[in-house]
Amino acid sequence: MATGEDAPLPTTPAPDAIRSLSRADDAPDEPGTVVWHRDDLRIADNPAVAAAAADADRIVPLFVFDPAFYDERGAACDARVEFLHDCLRDLDRQYRDVGGAGLTYGHGDPLDVLSRFVDAGWDAVATATPSGRYGRRRDERARERLGVDFVAGDGLVRDADRPREDWSDRVESWFAADPFDWDPRSVAVERVETAIDPDRASDAYDVAPTKTRVPTGGRGPARDRLRAFAEAIGEYPGSISSPLDAREGTSGLSAYLRFGCLSVREVHRHVDERAPDGRGKSMYVSRLFWNRHYTQKLLDWPGWLDRAVNPVYEGFNRDRHDPDLVAAWKRGETGFPMVDASMRCLRETGWLNFRMRALCASVYFQILQQPWRIGADHFYEHLIDGDPAINYTQWQSQCGLVGRPGLRLYDPRKQVRDQDPDGEFVRRWVPELDPLPAAHLDAPEKTPLAVQREVGVRIGEDYPYPVADYERARLEFRERYGAVHGAAAARLGDEEIARRASLSGGLGAARSIAADHGGPAEADGDDADATSQTGLDEFG
Ligand SMILES: Cc1cc2nc3c(=O)[nH]c(=O)nc-3n(C[C@H](O)[C@H](O)[C@H](O)COP(=O)(O)OP(=O)(O)OC[C@H]3O[C@@H](n4cnc5c(N)ncnc54)[C@H](O)[C@@H]3O)c2cc1C
Repeated sequence: MATGEDAPLPTTPAPDAIRSLSRADDAPDEPGTVVWHRDDLRIADNPAVAAAAADADRIVPLFVFDPAFYDERGAACDARVEFLHDCLRDLDRQYRDVGGAGLTYGHGDPLDVLSRFVDAGWDAVATATPSGRYGRRRDERARERLGVDFVAGDGLVRDADRPREDWSDRVESWFAADPFDWDPRSVAVERVETAIDPDRASDAYDVAPTKTRVPTGGRGPARDRLRAFAEAIGEYPGSISSPLDAREGTSGLSAYLRFGCLSVREVHRHVDERAPDGRGKSMYVSRLFWNRHYTQKLLDWPGWLDRAVNPVYEGFNRDRHDPDLVAAWKRGETGFPMVDASMRCLRETGWLNFRMRALCASVYFQILQQPWRIGADHFYEHLIDGDPAINYTQWQSQCGLVGRPGLRLYDPRKQVRDQDPDGEFVRRWVPELDPLPAAHLDAPEKTPLAVQREVGVRIGEDYPYPVADYERARLEFRERYGAVHGAAAARLGDEEIARRASLSGGLGAARSIAADHGGPAEADGDDADATSQTGLDEFG
């Protein structure tokens, strides 16, 4: 993607265009409210849209193409940007479908764009969403300088001294509450014509996606997927762990939720009302809680994106940083077939199931022993569902940076045997191993030379030996990690660190870990898919 400097675009809409909208014949002196959409790309169950429609006679729904998101600060692969552009086209359609004029596309620093509306007498409203430092500063400035009203309504607990107190009950009530509603006939949805739209933004910033199998963005495709998934939810528990089965068997809604094509509550309601009861349904509902749980963490501490939540682990593995090893992991050339297949699949398609994400993260941090942020950033760049709230908090959890006991390590060889016994996934993504009999795909380096000769695959030439000695690295990591784990667990007794960690059990849970002093107990990675809602704690 170009930086935008190659093809500078003006800040838009122009003040004149906004002024002429404000002077519309039928409402000469009465500007209305701008609805500033960010990652809430729907008109149903949208707190900002409902608030604007309740207070104003005229609304202008606005999306601003922010140049910051088209350079390295956005850290998004082109396929995710194109997915976003699909969602915007769809949002435009949603407004037109209810009789509105459509979505106004702005370009530039969102504050500059919004200030033009505010200067012309318009109010501005947006849905409150947790974000990293950039977004948090941007929103604070928008509130302070321009009076933008940020409306909450995503089930998260804000402005509470102890957000985790009764947290699950509060989220449950939010799930059960009626969605935000508005009557499109009660308000005029207006639009300013500008020189930018998703196609032109793609051109100007050289958005050229290369990934395959990426779904089309937007509410329409999201609803189709939700309907089909709810009918087949009985298959969900059996599909979740295998990277091949999960591709069709899990909901595939994460990217739609990330851009707000559907609200988490809408998904919950549809599943609750339409899906057959059973284990699939309860497992799925627990994951919707996990979505809120991890998002609450980012709300509670924006530092999740760049600093270890437990200061004792800040800089862990930094002295071992080996760019070649990191590059081998990113390319999928570590010599661990399940890691390599997953990393290539991630790069090519922008999606992996939970277990393979956790496998790649835990092997990266515990076996290759590389700094967590580089790995997390790589995931964030390539995932179509790359969600700052979930990606970075999950990475820190998988790497054990919270300081809780029970750090998991997924054994990549066992994952081949358990999740891909016929080797279909490995062969698909690591074709150089295709001729090897399935029995050798978990550890190709152990394939007898006679077999290698017979099938024509030479380990060490066609496919690498493992870049690390798994057993030795595992024990070494345990020792290094365990040596400071007591201190890390003790830091959870520090109120500020406990607040950052935002455990589902709240400050009390953090204190109790601190009191026990934790311990480097290593749980079996294969019980990771906790199936009930109490599994929340396991992922805290
Ligand atoms: C290292 C790592 C990074 C991750 N990064 C992201 C990310 O950037 N964006 C993202 O949406 N998910 C992320 N996940 C969580 C999970 O892997 C994906 O949500 C899931 O694979 C998406 O596919 P799905 O929608 O078919 O999932 P389903 O199994 O159908 O789950 C339904 C929804 O529940 C939520 N959910 C499921 N599992 C989790 C979980 N463990 N934690 C929080 N929410 C969950 C998601 O919103 C998901 O769409 C990450 C997991 C790990 C281990």
